Formats: sequence, C-alpha cells, structure tokens
Amino acid sequence: MEIIVKKEKCPQDHSCPAIKVCKVDALKQEGFNAPTVDQDACVKCMECVNYCPMGAIQAIE
Ligand code: SF4
Repeated sequence: MEIIVKKEKCPQDHSCPAIKVCKVDALKQEGFNAPTVDQDACVKCMECVNYCPMGAIQAIE
C-alpha cells in the first residue's frame, strides 16, 4: 500500500491541517503546496486518509 496526495483535490491555499494528525511526521508541506508523503517514514496508519475533508489523501495498492 502507498499513501498518495491527489493534487487536483487539494485546494493548495492553506496550511494542510492533516500534517498534524501524522504521528511519525511523514506528511510534509512546502508553502501551501499539496503535501507530500515520505513513504519510508509512513506507517500506513490511515489517519491522514480518514482525516482529509477533501479526500485528497488516498491509499492505493
Ligand atoms: S498514513 Fe499515517 S503515517 Fe502515513 S502519512 Fe498518513 S498519518 Fe502519516
């Protein structure tokens, strides 16, 4: 499984609130850009996937 961020679903106009739900600091954001996922750090807990109100963070096989 991989956690991805769908840029087209991310408004990219604010600090991503999902960053703080990641307990291992795997979600990173530069400016207001769509966040990126550090796949090595990510433990696939799904917290950010379930949190993102835009459905921009998704799990793919
Ligand atoms: S799935 Fe969990 S560990 Fe991975 S980026 Fe999201 S919150 Fe962080």
